[in-house]
Amino acid sequence: MHDLVLRDARLWGGSATDIAIEGGVIVAVGPGAARGREERRLDGRVVLPGLWDAHVHFTQWARTLRRLDVSAARSAVDVCDAVRSAVVPADSLLVAFGFRWGTWAEPPTLAALDAARIAPTVVLSGDLHTSWVNSAAAVRLDLPGAGLLREDAAFAAQRVLDAEPVAVHAVAAAVAAASARGVVGIVELEMADNVTDWTRRIDAGIDGLRVRAGFYPDMLEGRVREGARTGLTVSGSQGLLTHGPLKVITDGSLSTLTAHCMDPYPGGGIGVQNVSPDQLVEYLRVAAAAGLQVAVHAIGDRANTIALDAFAATGAHGTIEHAQLVTVPDLHRFAPLGVTASVQPEHALDDRDVADQLWAGRTGRSFPLRALLDAGARLTLGSDAPVAPLDPWISIAAAVHRTRDHRPAWHPEQAISVEEAILASVRSSVAPGQPADLVALDADPGAADAAVLRAMPVALTLVAGRVTHDAS
Ligand SMILES: [Zn+2]
Repeated sequence: MHDLVLRDARLWGGSATDIAIEGGVIVAVGPGAARGREERRLDGRVVLPGLWDAHVHFTQWARTLRRLDVSAARSAVDVCDAVRSAVVPADSLLVAFGFRWGTWAEPPTLAALDAARIAPTVVLSGDLHTSWVNSAAAVRLDLPGAGLLREDAAFAAQRVLDAEPVAVHAVAAAVAAASARGVVGIVELEMADNVTDWTRRIDAGIDGLRVRAGFYPDMLEGRVREGARTGLTVSGSQGLLTHGPLKVITDGSLSTLTAHCMDPYPGGGIGVQNVSPDQLVEYLRVAAAAGLQVAVHAIGDRANTIALDAFAATGAHGTIEHAQLVTVPDLHRFAPLGVTASVQPEHALDDRDVADQLWAGRTGRSFPLRALLDAGARLTLGSDAPVAPLDPWISIAAAVHRTRDHRPAWHPEQAISVEEAILASVRSSVAPGQPADLVALDADPGAADAAVLRAMPVALTLVAGRVTHDAS
């Protein structure tokens, strides 16, 4: 007798079938499965492999879910209105998140935020490169200043906020929210000891996700010493936690004009290379020799060239994270080098106006998902949560439609199909021998319009045959 049988499921483009599960693994797919100890009827719902988010900062995301959401603000006045009407204890610290002021006519001011709320208030921009701090917050938290803090001052303010450990129930709530969107696994790229943090969380019963725990160069030596090859399961984690890639951040970001480019920005400068090409080669050499994959953050086209050169020089395996601007010759280097492009489609929609300004004349090869696939590259989709919500359907819809509102698609020639976007979001298949990581949907993604795809209703999520979300 099977542990669990899902009856009347429909595979992508297929007919009704049963899926039998034993010991967390799919053991049979086909009509007329033998009985299970537990059985569920899916009434013809589409079943896909469970979804992965390939780039997440989970602790940040758990914090963000508890912050006031001001991502819909279209002006500083909108943000102040939201702050003023927030329902929080009068004297408490209020943290809001998500405003994007790059194209606003009136910049956010100290006076406006002080007028909106007397008690301590910090508003973080969606890209985390600015922290808008009122006078009371600057005093109570001993911040480096008040008003609109940028870059290092903004990060310093965030470090003070992040010194407060995130509560276990907040992490559990964020995991449950991910499960409700059909997520079964994440690549965790938090700047922390992710192996220790997630081992503790799994011990505490937070077992709804598979986690590949990335790490940064300061931990490289230690990981090599302990033999932490990428993909190796961490013992005592119920098989949920595996060692992930070495993450190396080699350039900045587009909106801060620090993405490292071939051509200058309109005001001059070509961005910054945080890690020299030689140092990058050294990191990749050490990682490759130890069986560790590498996730190289490269946004500008020059940073992408340097990253691909380092993969070529070392034979290292892994991903380029972001790959937001890529030269035409470089598009064709990903596949032969076996480098996966780990992309965040929603960023294209967050950044389309900024890109049109700062990368004018080059946007035809920015967020080049279609071109990368056509060049044979492997794509994997992610959110970079909290920069975009941890919701693969937002990523998938952005990749397919290249718009999220009334505006026409931005560079529709770089759109990919729903099927391609889903394939870039899964790591297993619905077949015998595969992990029973599955999601059942209340709409058919192949037939859904843009709005339905983006808000895809998820009926059921399973990780290793365990139900982690049930709205069926
Ligand atoms: Zn990131």
